[in-house]
Amino acid sequence: MDSVLETLVQMFDGTPVLVAAYDEFDRLRYANRAFRAAFFIDEAETPLWSEIMRRNHAAGRGTVLRTEDLEAWLTSTQSRRGKSGFRAYETDLVDGRWLWMTESVRADGWMLCIASNITGTRVEGRAVRQDRDFAVKASYTDELTGIANRRFVTERIEEMLHRPSSGAGGPGCVALLDIDHFKPVNDRHGHQIGDLILRDFARRIGGMVRRSDCFGRMGGDEFLLVLPRTSIGQAVLLVERMLAAVRTARPVPDRGDLAYTFSAGLAEGHPGDTVAGLYARADKALYSAKTSGRNRICREGPEPDRPAVAR
Ligand code: GH3
Ligand code: MG
Repeated sequence: MDSVLETLVQMFDGTPVLVAAYDEFDRLRYANRAFRAAFFIDEAETPLWSEIMRRNHAAGRGTVLRTEDLEAWLTSTQSRRGKSGFRAYETDLVDGRWLWMTESVRADGWMLCIASNITGTRVEGRAVRQDRDFAVKASYTDELTGIANRRFVTERIEEMLHRPSSGAGGPGCVALLDIDHFKPVNDRHGHQIGDLILRDFARRIGGMVRRSDCFGRMGGDEFLLVLPRTSIGQAVLLVERMLAAVRTARPVPDRGDLAYTFSAGLAEGHPGDTVAGLYARADKALYSAKTSGRNRICREGPEPDRPAVAR
């Protein structure tokens, strides 16, 4: 087997096809020579996907990014990237090459990327195909925050519930997050400051999840986390870290005193659950978190109003 593996690695290094694998945190764990050359990655390096994008963008090379605001683009792209089984798309590099990129994602979040050079092929209609890709992306994106929208998140819950069982553990958890006393913030400071808080929240929480998780905006000040293959205990720990991160946030640069908090309701998926049923249980837990003082998590459970972790 070892010699087959060695031969495979040699073959990958000899082919112009780009091959790479990222883990569930979106860290590059393998890349062949062609991939490293295209994205300027040294042999011993294992950077995060976001780091590859940032440094190539700063150096004016790598993928062509059609954006004025790289950080907003990263937040937006990361909220949808590598979260469903398979995706294929055309992408272009600053050096003029066009690639046909495929992304295959395993249930554990590892992603295999394979790209072929299609610069001279299927040139006709490329602009139309790109427009279509942008339209599809827009249909899954929340306009204000740039992260995944209700449609995208709902599909991820559906997938989580219908994924074949991997033996140990259940399908995973969802957490419904809602900003506390957001209406008075709007009333007191204006809608623009309210929008800024929503964007801050989306960026902050989005940066704390694995690639195999999904975080999106359901609407208003309500957001949802989908955490496949995560126990309710692990989910509590994650949301606790999020509560702590948001407590220290000061989203308005010239208003150092303006802070905000959120509350969360957690529910665990079970085989046979529906999206609506799971969502309703998380909503009920959220209601408990709100009525028991806000700025905390409640998990669904046999006893009503059970705080997950004492504050
Ligand atoms: P609670 O702690 O119980 O959640 O209180 P709340 O005031 O946050 O109540 P609720 O979640 O029901 O209020 C949601 C508010 O969010 C209502 C509306 O003023 C505000 N809102 C909804 N969408 C937007 C938006 O796109 N931008 C801004 N700035 N505000 C929004
Ligand atoms: Mg609210």
